[in-house]
Amino acid sequence: MMTTSHTSPLETARFGSFGGGFIPETLVQPLRELADAYLSLQADPGFLEELGELLSRFAGRPTPLCRADRLGQALGRRIYLKREDLLHGGAHKLNNTLGQALIASRMGKSRLIAETGAGQHGVATAIVGAKLGFETQIYMGEVDIERQKMNVYRMELLGAEVIPVRSGSRTLKDAINEAMRDWAGSYETTHYLLGTAAGPYPYPAMVRDLQSVIGQEARSQIMEQEGRLPDSIVACVGGGSNAMGIFAPFLSDPTRLIAVEAGGRGPGQTGRTADNGASLAFGSKGVLHGAMTKILQDPFGQILESYSVAAGLDYPGVGPQLAHLAETGRVLTRLASDAQAVRGFRYLSQAEGIIPALESAHAVGYALEEPQQLGDLCIINVSGRGDKDLHTVMEYEGC
Ligand SMILES: *Cc1c(COP(=O)(O)O)cnc(C)c1O
Repeated sequence: MMTTSHTSPLETARFGSFGGGFIPETLVQPLRELADAYLSLQADPGFLEELGELLSRFAGRPTPLCRADRLGQALGRRIYLKREDLLHGGAHKLNNTLGQALIASRMGKSRLIAETGAGQHGVATAIVGAKLGFETQIYMGEVDIERQKMNVYRMELLGAEVIPVRSGSRTLKDAINEAMRDWAGSYETTHYLLGTAAGPYPYPAMVRDLQSVIGQEARSQIMEQEGRLPDSIVACVGGGSNAMGIFAPFLSDPTRLIAVEAGGRGPGQTGRTADNGASLAFGSKGVLHGAMTKILQDPFGQILESYSVAAGLDYPGVGPQLAHLAETGRVLTRLASDAQAVRGFRYLSQAEGIIPALESAHAVGYALEEPQQLGDLCIINVSGRGDKDLHTVMEYEGC
């Protein structure tokens, strides 16, 4: 459920020196209207009730908090798994798309547009487009369309149209640019459903609030099952929505919050590509997609192409609040390499009978690497399920 405490626009627009709205004039009006709608709806009991019903009856909330006995035994501590892999669609993404689609329908919009890289957010948008009756169009880079044929088919099956993006590197960042361009000319009928806790205000705050249902549930579940707060919470980071979602309700607690980024093949960052997706660890301050944040860029400020074995962590930026929390030390940032993630993928499958998404497997892989950092009681956010990744892991392992 969204937070009901009323916050002023300024408090949610900036996070230290990060965030804000670095946007062209044409996007000022649609973003202002969206921010107004989000601020009034987050305190609207009718809206919250409708969203709560969709989350439980359609999407399957609450998701379980499940004790991982064999993993815990191996690491010498108590480990719990927050099971977002069990949410409809197979990942946490529907918490965000359901919430934004409902905001869009309250605003009287009839069309949804979204960007997608790996296709997961495009599928989650297509699901809510079908469920709530929107015309839905998904911008996707040509390179990604070629790499992610199954998700393109899923989106089309769900009634969405996939629009190929041929500009730039023809991947996620170009799809975001194209969606923003569309929105500037179409916002009277159209909502732009951004997929993570990044971009210009109000997206980082709005997506965090919509995803914070994960942390609110985890908090009451661990209190019920253990009678105390966890010593640590571990979550993987692409743009930061599953991490902010589980971290947000614990920000004023002593719980150690650990954000695990895609270490990829290593920190090499020369030429036009980075060998990782670790904007917090290796990025520097700059503006990407309308916000001041940490980004992977070359010395001239050109965005580098990121890389991870997990397609969902393959983003050259990160949400501004996470950048701020990392800079102030409230959130610890760590890396898991491709190899460590694949180890986590196999380990959770064999020890717990849960095949995690390769993204989530980064959090597991990190926990296996540094168990002493977790304290006695730890929650790992399993942001999604791994069925979509079998082919990638088979290829990685040379099967
Ligand atoms: C998209 C995705 C991520 C990365 O996105 P965040 O916004 O950082 O959460 C992580 N895990 C899964 C399963 C995903 O689908």
